[in-house]
Amino acid sequence: MAGAFWCMVEDDRQGNPKKVMAEVLGEATRLAGQQGADVEAVWLTDKATSEGLKLLGELGAKRVWLLEGPAFAPYKGEVWTPVIAELAGKESPQAIFAPVTTRQRELMARLAARLGAGLSADSTALAIEDGKLVATRPVYAGKLLSKVTWARSPWLATLRPNVFRPAEPQPNAAAHVECPAVSAPTGSMSLVERREESSTGLPELAEAEIVVSGGRGLKGPENFVVLEALASVVGAAVGASRAAVDAGWRPHRFQIGQTGRTISPKLYMGFGISGAIQHLAGMRTSKVICAVNKDPEAPIFKIADYGIVGDLFEVAPLLTTEFKKLLEK
Ligand SMILES: Cc1cc2nc3c(=O)[nH]c(=O)nc-3n(C[C@H](O)[C@H](O)[C@H](O)COP(=O)(O)OP(=O)(O)OC[C@H]3O[C@@H](n4cnc5c(N)ncnc54)[C@H](O)[C@@H]3O)c2cc1C
Repeated sequence: MAGAFWCMVEDDRQGNPKKVMAEVLGEATRLAGQQGADVEAVWLTDKATSEGLKLLGELGAKRVWLLEGPAFAPYKGEVWTPVIAELAGKESPQAIFAPVTTRQRELMARLAARLGAGLSADSTALAIEDGKLVATRPVYAGKLLSKVTWARSPWLATLRPNVFRPAEPQPNAAAHVECPAVSAPTGSMSLVERREESSTGLPELAEAEIVVSGGRGLKGPENFVVLEALASVVGAAVGASRAAVDAGWRPHRFQIGQTGRTISPKLYMGFGISGAIQHLAGMRTSKVICAVNKDPEAPIFKIADYGIVGDLFEVAPLLTTEFKKLLEK
């Protein structure tokens, strides 16, 4: 059988694969089927839960390579990379996929260098053509799409969240769990301090199906409450433009755009955001785009599916009230 399609597991640090893994495993299953190959998950963690392992099987992994131990948390690229490279050397996977997350982006770049293999970062589409993987990825801040292929396997790719069709869990499917003996090197980096993000109670920006985003038009950090009220009614994450982040109104992790996060939710609602190309680079693949701006000439209206020309301080509370009524029905 052809080498397997590996999926690197991104977890919540509590032993559970993140939601995005349904998308990575779903896409890997679709492509591996065309190659007559299996899908396998590779999970480095200090604590895997049995529910997490069960879920990976239900989402399509035939086998889970479980590398479990205290050396694997917190994530250190210099520790993870040689271990995965060693396993890849023995098992010869055909492809290695991972979601676009902070640590997987770094890990996959390191792994590609270690394996002397190619990496398509931030892929938005994947296909098998003439028996080889072809990836589509945005370039020039999303203005162009490039198609890339690999000179040889393994084909490494990171997959943009919220783009690929998630696997439907199959309750009866189970993965064979394999715990290979590996020697994890001691890293030269050590953890000095860990600060937990204080929870906003709202979904995580990159995983949210709905994102409400605010820009300079909000006029100050205190006014983000207007968007948070709307977000809590519709179950959205709150993002921001760089202008709002540079002004110190929101932390950088909430910035959407070329130098921030790339999101692709089902619904993006922008309030007081002009629609600069660098902002669009981070949200233009959203399924439905709605913009609220008092300037009818604002560039964001060019890519918006729905536009409201008006004052966000009037429109946002009205939307909150109306959504609340609708959702309570
Ligand atoms: C290298 C580089 C990288 C960059 N990376 C990013 C990035 O990652 N993300 C990003 O967002 N930007 C990025 N930028 C900055 C980008 O070019 C814009 O400056 C920024 O996106 C503008 O933010 P904004 O839309 O909030 O502000 P503005 O462009 O000032 O727009 C504010 C909008 O609010 C509207 N408005 C004002 N008051 C109201 C109201 N009461 N009701 C309704 N509408 C109102 C105005 O009509 C206006 O359209 C980058 C720039 C560079 C050069």
